[in-house]
Amino acid sequence: MKVNKAELIISAVQTEQYPKNRLPEIALAGRSNVGKSTFINTLLTRKNLAHTSSKPGKTRTLNFYNINDELTFVDVPGYGYAKVSKAERASWGEMIETYLTERKELRGVVQIVDVRHKPSAEDLQMYEYLKYFQLPVIVIATKADKVSKNKRPKHVKQVKEAMQLEKEDKIILFSAETGQGKEEAWKEIRHLMST
Ligand code: GDP
Repeated sequence: MKVNKAELIISAVQTEQYPKNRLPEIALAGRSNVGKSTFINTLLTRKNLAHTSSKPGKTRTLNFYNINDELTFVDVPGYGYAKVSKAERASWGEMIETYLTERKELRGVVQIVDVRHKPSAEDLQMYEYLKYFQLPVIVIATKADKVSKNKRPKHVKQVKEAMQLEKEDKIILFSAETGQGKEEAWKEIRHLMST
């Protein structure tokens, strides 16, 4: 997809702050430092539009990006950051749950995992949680360039099996370094937009 426009509309915490433009929304979730911002920037061909804001101390917000006045990416703050307090974790959980359960515009979630490793407990939890809310999920197995070519299928299989991916959910091998998987990711996102 050719991205002519990509703009941060709002960093929201409360539902009243969500945009009212009715565009279809795709949320993006992943463990902190997994490569979520890089994935967003690669898809949008922007260098530094999305940046890591998941460090403790910074406000953890839902960042809404308008793309071509056609759809909205919702960057969900990274999970599994060890250093956040219990209170912070609770407010994060509440904000995400409200968004995932109440947002009519939400068509599905892109969940980003690191293809090098077995999904973490938090990765598995997040996937189960999304399925509990019956949300379609596209799993992006990123950093493919860090695994040798002949080992990649084995790694994808490992992720797929550990997450127990449901039939309707896709897994896409991705690399921000090589651009591998970018077109396929767009294709699946477009598909969700039309649902
Ligand atoms: P976030 O916290 O999930 O938003 O993670 P970032 O997008 O900031 O990425 C974390 C680190 O992983 C950065 O140093 C990125 O350059 C690196 N990274 C992200 N995607 C890739 C990739 O596909 N390949 C490689 N080699 N490094 C990546």
